Amino acid sequence: MPHPNDPALRSFIPVDSESDFPIQNLPYGVFSAHGLAPRIGVAIGDYVLDLWELEQDGRLQVEPGTFSAPALNGFMSQGPQVWARTRARLSELLRHDHGELRDSEELRKRAVVPMREAKLHMPFHVAGFTDFYSSKEHATNVGAMFRGKDNALQPNWLHMPIGYNGRASTVVVSGTRVRRPRGQLKPPGAENPSFGPSKRLDFELEMGAVIGQASPIGGMLTEAQAQAMIFGFVLVNDWSARDIQQWEYVPLGPFQGKAFATSISPWVVTSAALEPFRCEGPAQTPPPLSYLQQAAPNNYDIELEVGLRAASMNKPARICRSNFKYMYWSSVQQLMHHASSGCAMNVGDLLGSGTISGPEKGQRGSLLEISWNGTEPLALADGVARTFLEDGDSLTMRGWCQGDGYRVGFGEVEGTILPAES
Ligand code: CA
Repeated sequence: MPHPNDPALRSFIPVDSESDFPIQNLPYGVFSAHGLAPRIGVAIGDYVLDLWELEQDGRLQVEPGTFSAPALNGFMSQGPQVWARTRARLSELLRHDHGELRDSEELRKRAVVPMREAKLHMPFHVAGFTDFYSSKEHATNVGAMFRGKDNALQPNWLHMPIGYNGRASTVVVSGTRVRRPRGQLKPPGAENPSFGPSKRLDFELEMGAVIGQASPIGGMLTEAQAQAMIFGFVLVNDWSARDIQQWEYVPLGPFQGKAFATSISPWVVTSAALEPFRCEGPAQTPPPLSYLQQAAPNNYDIELEVGLRAASMNKPARICRSNFKYMYWSSVQQLMHHASSGCAMNVGDLLGSGTISGPEKGQRGSLLEISWNGTEPLALADGVARTFLEDGDSLTMRGWCQGDGYRVGFGEVEGTILPAES
């Protein structure tokens, strides 16, 4: 049987070469259509393959009811062997030269749903959300802004992936509108803080690793164990209120400035589908302590772009083009570090990579950096300029791996800003 990542594979379902969802991808999500309850599906071209229909038809070997769930957690908890077996089977069922689904009109009618008729939901129940700070370029830019060029990186930064425990309760799926947060603000020059809507609302371009296996309290993880626990990845927009954040974060760290919303893309692209796009990350100097060392190339070559559309514009302006491969600390290292204290990991944990900025100016992954803390407004189109996000602005992130004649893509994560509640 051909390998599911074989670039030569094609499906009997027509897929454009620019589509994010060829047969080599097969990302998992949760959808509902035609008045039926949300269930698990896989994206293929402009369609969703209904895995609950296939399971009921006896065509997938999983624990009973796996794909009728409105979240991927139960499937993920069955482990890497089940993930691999299911991926191979779905690839077979969708192949152009395999007749089982292709030639059964009755089954196709039930199991192949046009994506435009489907509503996409949160793909998994987020057990915990951890947000890292692992792009050296981002940390250097932000550090230079607030501490000066010579003290940009804190002394610990090159020795461990810095992160904090965020809020799982406010992780939302693409398309969910985001209410401008309120908080304590103390602009430069103000004598006392006041309470009100954030005036410095920002996005952060990130990827999120979706943890598909648990680890016990007190356990440490090897590189291979950490790798095997990562089910896949989503796009993440980690919305941030810079003015709330700046006033509150000393001495402890991010709290309300980061707690109000984090948006993710609806399709989880599996680690298995990303395997051909694995690449080396930046050289790590000094070498990390032994528990953080990795022998494999654990970064991925994923093209990323961000578009911003003000309410008055009819199409988005591209404001950032970056790549996941620039990350200094890999998701595997983040996970090894996370567990190293004895912290248990759960099925459904989401690890935000941290803002993904690259070395070039056009690769900055937040407005904080693009507008250099509000001092360099960004011209969008038709006289529209931005330092931070305004009400009505729509922010869209996309990501994809470019293969030879196909791409393994993530779709998009979009969010539109609503005014603060009065
Ligand atoms: Ca973040």
